[in-house]
Amino acid sequence: MTDPLHAPVELSPPDIAPYRRGNTGIDHVTSLTAAEPGPHVVLNALVHGNEISGAIALDSLLRLGVRPRRGRLSFVFANTAAYATFDRQNPYASRYLDEDFNRLWSPQILDGRRDSVELRRARALRPFYDSADLLLDLHSMTADTAPLTLCGRTTRGRDLALGLGYPAWVVADEGHAGGRRLIDYGGFAEREGARTAILVECGQHWRAETGVVALESCLRLLLGLEMIDPPAGAPRLRRRGDPQRLVEVTDAVTAASERFRFTAPFVGMEVIGRAGTVIGWDDARAVTTPYDDCVLIMPARRVKSGQTAVRLGRIVG
Ligand SMILES: [Zn+2]
Repeated sequence: MTDPLHAPVELSPPDIAPYRRGNTGIDHVTSLTAAEPGPHVVLNALVHGNEISGAIALDSLLRLGVRPRRGRLSFVFANTAAYATFDRQNPYASRYLDEDFNRLWSPQILDGRRDSVELRRARALRPFYDSADLLLDLHSMTADTAPLTLCGRTTRGRDLALGLGYPAWVVADEGHAGGRRLIDYGGFAEREGARTAILVECGQHWRAETGVVALESCLRLLLGLEMIDPPAGAPRLRRRGDPQRLVEVTDAVTAASERFRFTAPFVGMEVIGRAGTVIGWDDARAVTTPYDDCVLIMPARRVKSGQTAVRLGRIVG
């Protein structure tokens, strides 16, 4: 495992200035509409300003001149203010400016009176996201964890993630105690309905491979939906690797103290064989696995009181 504090920045942040004006009246949002009807598919990057692989994927697709055969295809660079501060000498710092853009997605917060850089951007993008039938949210991780899809709790999110055939891990989850994510916003998370959002964690934030996974995820989605023709010059889709495994999140471990620590340098997707294994200490309280073959999902690198330290999941398929 690479010490994440010293993870090499192999990727270069693309220049997204050419996409600032876009064509939607919202900065950094470009939308292409086909004559033939079809769904509105949104490819969403930079919810976290330091997760540059999504921006690389969108930049690649726009440069390839991808156009929808049907429906509407949109490209969103979300937290561009944070991204503008990306510094490869201090790459963690640009995750957000005032607060996490991906914890704002409930009406109480969006309609509330609070103000921040991220809330202003969220409020500007909200009507646009409201028009999406399908949203692919591209993220990356601190640790060198295998790529995974977060599909929320809906059957349709699960079906979409499994339909893509990649990445191998699919995690069905409910999000964070600290605030609602974009993929859990409004119609995306309603039990009934058709609007669907999934989030792909493409790998370690700045590994070259992570950019490849982000682009592959977009291409698989668009080709699978028959939204586009295979773009000339696009990388060939790779062979499917491991069979997909579906994990249902059963518990979110929220740190109660500032002294939370893990018993080992977990990177995520470890499968802990025996129930009752101590995986961490929250001050003096032992944190144990509740069942056999418990999967650790994205343990946080630095855990603060009130934040999710790790989520626990059961392999269900
Ligand atoms: Zn992220």
